[in-house]
Amino acid sequence: MTYWQKEEVYDIEQKRQVQSERLITTVNRVYNNVPFYKEKMKAMGIEPGDIKGIGDLDKLPFTTKQDLRDHYPYGLFAAPMEEVVRIHASSGTTGQPTVVGYTKNDIEMWSDMIARSFTAMGVTKKDIVQVAYGYGLFTGGLGAHYGTERLGAATVPISGGNTKKQIQLLQEFGSTVIACTPSYILYIGETMKNMGIDPRSTKLHTGIFGAEPWTEEMREQIESMFGINAMDIYGLSEVLGPGVGFECSARSGMHINDDHFVPEIINPDTLQALPEGQSGELVFTMITKEALPLLRYRTRDITTLHTGQCSCGRTLTRMDKIAGRSDDMLIIRGVNVFPSQIESVLLKVAETAPHYVIIVDRINNLDTLEVWVEVRPEFFTDAIKSLEKIEKHITAELFSLLGLHVKVKLVEPRSIERSEGKAKRIIDKRNK
Ligand code: ADP
Ligand code: ZN
Repeated sequence: MTYWQKEEVYDIEQKRQVQSERLITTVNRVYNNVPFYKEKMKAMGIEPGDIKGIGDLDKLPFTTKQDLRDHYPYGLFAAPMEEVVRIHASSGTTGQPTVVGYTKNDIEMWSDMIARSFTAMGVTKKDIVQVAYGYGLFTGGLGAHYGTERLGAATVPISGGNTKKQIQLLQEFGSTVIACTPSYILYIGETMKNMGIDPRSTKLHTGIFGAEPWTEEMREQIESMFGINAMDIYGLSEVLGPGVGFECSARSGMHINDDHFVPEIINPDTLQALPEGQSGELVFTMITKEALPLLRYRTRDITTLHTGQCSCGRTLTRMDKIAGRSDDMLIIRGVNVFPSQIESVLLKVAETAPHYVIIVDRINNLDTLEVWVEVRPEFFTDAIKSLEKIEKHITAELFSLLGLHVKVKLVEPRSIERSEGKAKRIIDKRNK
């Protein structure tokens, strides 16, 4: 096995030791530099000296996206502006974007986290990496860029969009790795097919996909479309950007770089930390960042953690694929529904394409759930009967999974909007 850094294979004791030292430094740093944390800790009756190690993590206050918004843009920074060398912002998927900053050391660490992740996915300095995440305020493009350079691979900074050019570079530059959102690679593959180019004809061997939730079923479709390994990478700007968590060749969850970001799972209602193996909201404490180290940042992403050594040798905590964000969780007549559950049903149906939208409405005070999904061109017919049969089949599958009646509507190939970045799959018409 090849690792980028020795910290990936620390034994558990060694890791706790390092985490504890780093946590103590960070708590002092934010207490002394960020009035928000000093006030919060004072109100809770705790001082930095009360935090003796990682076992005291749950004494610390939480931080939310709203706290970042309330202190927009730089109010939670723990480093003076003269030390800040980069500013990014979140995509704003769920509201006003939040602003994040990095010192030189933060950028160094970030580059290593990407190099770590890509190494675990089988990328080496011999590779040509097409970075098709958006460059700009979004962390995806530049984050991946610095990491691939750190790794020593040849970096192709094409950014997101410009799909024909992406395809041209795949063919002419011979890119061996592509990094983008899962929805964008589907779009690229579909465009290739429309142009009469076989998506399996490129030199790609690995795709690094993240920035949005995607299911195992989606992975299978992408892998068979391109004949590549499709690997999952996780991150969020408030914590770092891409490179917070990554999948290794064992594919048994995503490793979290927990020597830098200590994860916890909490019950979002009671805010109590949950024992290992239980699903809940993922929370991170950043113990090495300088510009913006947040304590117990509530990601709103839902997953489960597993400790213990992975078959790849790494001792970095693993998390399951993200089920979705709590913001995206739909409550339909009292039933919790994640879009990813719907996706996994839709993608098992041979006649439908992986392009769908979920429409939520309230009619006569009753929540309704409707799914529009495209039919694959080869199955698209004018014969109403055969389309109805597919719709009925999907409705029955969704009912058996969710216990809810979902209205399924098959739509024409290519009628649902494609995404060059994060796909928008939910239209919620309630309260509007
Ligand atoms: P925003 O919160 O505005 O979308 P970011 O661009 O920082 O801002 O996006 C981070 C979020 O994207 C994460 O909190 C998570 O919900 C989602 N995300 C990122 N990577 C993955 C992944 N591999 N799987 C599922 N969700 C992901
Ligand atoms: Zn592993």
